[in-house]
Order: sequence, then structure tokens, then C-alpha cells
Amino acid sequence: MGLDTQQANASRQPPEQDFLYRLAHDLARSPDAKTIANHLFSRAQQLLGADYGSLFLVNPAGTELEEVAAYGEGAEALNQERIDLQQDFAPIVQAFRQQRPIVKRDWFNDPQLSARFRKRYQLIHGVWVVPLLNGARAVGAMVLGFVTRRKASAEEIRLLQILGDEAALALERAHLTEALRTSEERYRDLFENANDLIYTHDLSGNFTSLNATGERLLGYNRTEVLALNILQVLAPEYLPLAREVLDKQLVGRTSPTYAVEMLAKDGRRIPVDVNARLLYRQGVPIGYQGIARDVTERRRAEAQQQESASVSAALAEIGQELLASFDTPTALDRLCRLTAKALNAAYSHTLLRESAEEGYRIVAASEGTAEQIEERQTLKLPRRRLARLFSRLAQGGIVTQTTKALRDPISQRMFERFQIATVLHIPLRRSSDIIGVLSVWYRQGQPMQPYHRQIALGIAQLASLVLANVKSIEELARANRLKQEFLGSVSHELRTPLNIIIGYNELLGEHSFGPLTPEQDRVLDRMSKSAKELLDLVNATLDLSRLQNRRDTAAWQPVSLPAFFEELAVDIQPLRQPSNVKIFWHAAASLPSPLTDPIKLRMIMKNLLANALKFTEAGKITVRAKREGTGLLLSVHDTGIGISADSLSSIFEPFQQVPPTSPPKTKGVGLGLYIVRQLVETLGGTVSASSTLGKGSTFQVWLPLRKEPPPSAAETALRTVSRS
Ligand code: ADP
Repeated sequence: MGLDTQQANASRQPPEQDFLYRLAHDLARSPDAKTIANHLFSRAQQLLGADYGSLFLVNPAGTELEEVAAYGEGAEALNQERIDLQQDFAPIVQAFRQQRPIVKRDWFNDPQLSARFRKRYQLIHGVWVVPLLNGARAVGAMVLGFVTRRKASAEEIRLLQILGDEAALALERAHLTEALRTSEERYRDLFENANDLIYTHDLSGNFTSLNATGERLLGYNRTEVLALNILQVLAPEYLPLAREVLDKQLVGRTSPTYAVEMLAKDGRRIPVDVNARLLYRQGVPIGYQGIARDVTERRRAEAQQQESASVSAALAEIGQELLASFDTPTALDRLCRLTAKALNAAYSHTLLRESAEEGYRIVAASEGTAEQIEERQTLKLPRRRLARLFSRLAQGGIVTQTTKALRDPISQRMFERFQIATVLHIPLRRSSDIIGVLSVWYRQGQPMQPYHRQIALGIAQLASLVLANVKSIEELARANRLKQEFLGSVSHELRTPLNIIIGYNELLGEHSFGPLTPEQDRVLDRMSKSAKELLDLVNATLDLSRLQNRRDTAAWQPVSLPAFFEELAVDIQPLRQPSNVKIFWHAAASLPSPLTDPIKLRMIMKNLLANALKFTEAGKITVRAKREGTGLLLSVHDTGIGISADSLSSIFEPFQQVPPTSPPKTKGVGLGLYIVRQLVETLGGTVSASSTLGKGSTFQVWLPLRKEPPPSAAETALRTVSRS
């Protein structure tokens, strides 16, 4: 190398350094291949005087070089070239394949130049190509074109190589940045538009991020969120739970999804299922990431399901209870009580139309002392006062009113007394006619729930059904009563002549009217037996009708058991025919004296003993009294024929007789045990039987020591109706 060349080199040193420095600076900031190419070309033009520039990158398949940027006159139009790496042998392919710079001084005259290239680059004579190398891999090539036949110095070729390396590096970086940007965008898109609320917060709970869904749900913007603590967006009652879950995670225990309610900016509560996990940086926990799923819809569906379940449950209960009440006042009282309970209201009452139709009266209420109820019953509402309400009921089914609308005297009194805020009126219909209204009163702060309307509609239907039923059941009960009265009076009328017949029979049998032939004696005996059986039947029927008419109420008094047994023994003496049956009596002297009805108790025990004697040919009968629980247990045990398990279940039913295994001494009528059970129940007790066929039977009667209230009218009515 000559002196002037060296000098030339030396004088070029600073601009070259400056060139490289500025190029590196520009390339580092270039986001894409085009910008990179622009920087390269402008430097190449400055430093090397290049007239054209082209940047090629190899395609992903490695089959072609694609022109991605061009520089120079008409560059825009040129910027589309593709070079087939298999077929073209232009210097660019050579440089790419051999991974070294190629310089052609007179390229245009190169015989290898294809017609296509010749056409495109007709002005270019000098062509310098530098491969772009990324490590050992060629990723593309840069072409510089010169209008003059320009020679390249070794220095320039070195520079060209540096340029290529810089370009390859910049391209690689741009490529990576681009890839990172797209993946980041994809992640951001996922994060922002997820259906769930996604957030992060530091260990003290201060938000560090919240996605767009979260902002939308909570109503805060990003800046507001970053000034918030997680505890500020949680409903206060869930704070302990949230703290516990987060603390557990800090000590390494993961926790499953937990349910809390978040607080939106406007105070709305949003039920969410949250899943949180710890975030680490270099192994050290720095905060939490949480995903919260809005479960409002799910909760709403669950609540709806629960509501309809409670509607059905309430209606089922009301229906069941109402079916058990048969007389109107009881039915309506129950209706009021159950309605107030089912609708979680303060009070409820029923207005029914007076038969004369001139007004309405309260006939039943959910609560109140007898006086209060009486007082309410005196409040009569004239028809015209309720006309509006009734026309609304006829139209819509159910009417609700608030305090403002309550102007009638009843409503006003209700408000003064009970601070009633809302009232709900349910029409009571008989067929299509509205005959009354069931009103339900809600106190202030005792809100009417939306599903209460549904229950109320159900009640309206049930009540109409019950009212229709009540009417027919009242009729049924009246018919039953008439039947009983008829039976009672007929039996009573039959008794007197029967007793006369029996009396004369006895006189005849004692030969008071003269002697009888043996044949006449036998006939008379049969007549007496039949007459006595008939009298038994008449007496039993009379007992029964008395019991069923409830005319026969118990006369309570203390009964001393030992004395009672002594009298009973005398009583049953006539029933004892000479036989080998012995009777044993066991009643401890220390037994308390029960408060009961001695006459009824005597009927009970006489019936049981008569049966024991009737069905025991030989053996013994044991009568016992002992204390059991809060009462006395009286038992009659015999060693007679016994009762089969099949028959045992029905012997307490009226007119039930077990098919006899051997002919009984006297015929019965099948009413004795039925009467026994009725009597025992009147005394507040229970009766049961156990038996082994062929070995004997035991009948047990349990009676309370003190007076127990007899079964309610409704229960008795139910029993009577179901049996008749
Ligand atoms: P009856 O007037 O026929 O005795 P009850 O109602 O008193 O009517 O009894 C019903 C039936 O129960 C009797 O017909 C008899 O078959 C059976 N029974 C009652 N008590 C006894 C007993 N102590 N031993 C065996 N069978 C009995």
C-alpha cells in the first residue's frame, strides 16, 4: 500500500468511526427492516457514494431472497424483487451462498446476468454485494449499486462487511422485538378482555393492575384503581375470610376458590368466586394475582330456585293444614295464621261478606286475644268503602297498598297499632264470586319480597278450594249429626219396651204365671237370650251415639284404684257363669288416684272383662294397675282362645268380630272394643291389645293421672268423617 493511500486512510479514519457510531445508534432504534435499510443506504451513500441500494432477506423456506427495501432512483418500483436461490446466479446469490462480499466492477457486462436483471439494472455498472450473517447463518444480502465502474478498496470491503454484520444484528433485534410485541399484544388482549376480573396487588394489598373487565365491573378507571387497596373493594363481612386465605398462601398453603362480594364504586355488590395465587420475583413473594369470576347470574338463578322451592314448601304446608280444618272459623283462623307466617308478615285477617251483603266483617285473624278479636268483629265495613278494592281484586287477583293509600278505619288502626307499612290483599272466591278478602300486613322494615306475590296467588287458590270444601264438609257433618241423633233417640225408645219384654220373660221363667212345660221353658230361654242380645245392641248403639254427639263429656274426679277394683268385681259377678275361670286383682295400695271419669272407666274395664270371660273357657284372668310415666297402666290378661295377628289390627273398629274358633258362650255385637277406644280417648288415654292364638290375650289401657284436654273438634270431625 502506497504512502498516499495510507494518508487517505488516515484522513478517513475519523469520519469512518463517526459513521459506524452513528449507524449503530440509528440501527439500535430501528423497529423494522425498512428503517434499517434506510439508515444503511443513507450511510452507504454518504461514505461510499452508492447510487442504489437493495436489501434482501431469505424467506422462511430458504428458497428465495425477497427484496424488503430499496433505495435510489425509481426505487419504489423496484422494491419487489424475488431471487430464486436455485436458479439465479447473480452475484447476490453467490455472496449469499458463499457468505462473503462480492464486488463486480462491470456487472452489466457480466455474461451470467439474466435478462431480467439486465433490464432492471441497466444503468448500474458496479455492484457490491455483502451477505447478512447471523452467526453462521446467512439471513439475507445487501446490494449497493454504482453508476460508475467503481473499484472497491480492501478498506471499503472491510467496511462493507461491518455494515452487513450491523444490519444482520439490527434485523435480528427488530425481528425479536416484533415477535415480543405480537405475543405481548396477544397476552394483553387476553388479559384485558377475559370474562373474569384479573388483578394483581402487592403484599399490602395495594392494586398494581386491573384488567379492562375489572374496570368495567367495578366502575373505577385505571388511575383510580392504582390508588386503591384490595380491602376497599371487598364487602366488609368478607374481610376476615380474604385475609385468612391470603395469609395461608404466604405460609405455603394453597386454597381453593372462595366466594366473596366485591364492592363497586357506586356501592353495588358483586358476588364473585376468587382464585388468588402468590407472585414471586427471584423466589421472593411480591404480591398476589387474583382472578375473580362474576357469579351474579349464577347466584340469581340459585336464588330463584330457592324462592320457588320456598313458595312450593309454603303452599304445601298451608294446603296440608287447611285440609285438616273443616269448620269455617277454624279454617279461616288457620289460613290467617299460616299466611302471616308464610309471607313473613306481622298480621293477617280475613274479611267475609255478610249474608245480607250490606257489608264486610272481620271473621278471622292470625292473632289476638278473644276480646281483641271480638272488638275487630264489631268493625263492620260498608260495601261502598271496599268497592274500589274489590273491583281491583276482581281485575288483577292480588292488590298491594302502601301506608299512603290506607284510609279506611281498619287500616288506620292497624297502622297506629302496628306501624304497618304495606298491606297485601288476596281475594277469597267461591267459584267466580269474590266473597271476601285475606289481608296481610307488613310492618315497616319487614319488606314484602317479590316472591310473596307468588305465594299469595297460591294461597288465593288454596283458600277458594278450602272454602268450597268447607261448605260441603259442613253439610256432611250436619248430616252425620242428624244420623247420630236419630240413632240415639231410636235406641232410647227401643230400650223401654225391650226391658218390659225381658222383665215379663223373667217372670214367666220363674213360673210366676203358672207352670210351663219343658218345651215352653226352652223356647222362653231362647227368647230371653235373644231379647238380652237385642238390649246389648241397643245399649251399645246408645253409648256410641252419646259419645259421637259429644253430649257425654267426662266428669272428672279422683278415683282410688283398690276401691274401684272391688266395685268392679261386684259389677261383673252377673257375667260370671259357673266356670273354671279365676280372676286375680293386683292394685298396689300406694298407687296414686288418677283424676278421671269413674263411670267411663267402669264401662271400659267392664267391656274388657266381659270379653275376657266370654273368650276364656278355663284358666285365669288377671287385672292389674301400675304406674307408667305420667299415667296409669290398667291391664286385663286372660288365658283364653286368643286373637290371630290378622284380626288384632281391626278389633277396635266398629262391628268387627273375629271368626270364632269355637262357639262363644254369648253372641256379641262387635261394638264393645270400639266403644272402649272412644271412651279411653275421651279420657285422654290410649288402648292396645296383644295376643297369642290359643294362649290368651292382654288388653292395656293407659290413662293420664291428670286431666288432659280431649282431642280437638277438628280432629274428632276428621275421624268421624273418615270412618262414616
Ligand atoms: P263383641 O261384642 O263381639 O265382643 P268387641 O268389640 O268387644 O265385640 O270385640 C270384637 C272381637 O274381638 C270379638 O268378637 C272377639 O272376636 C275379639 N275379642 C275381644 N276380646 C277378646 C278376648 N279377650 N279374647 C279373644 N278374643 C277377643
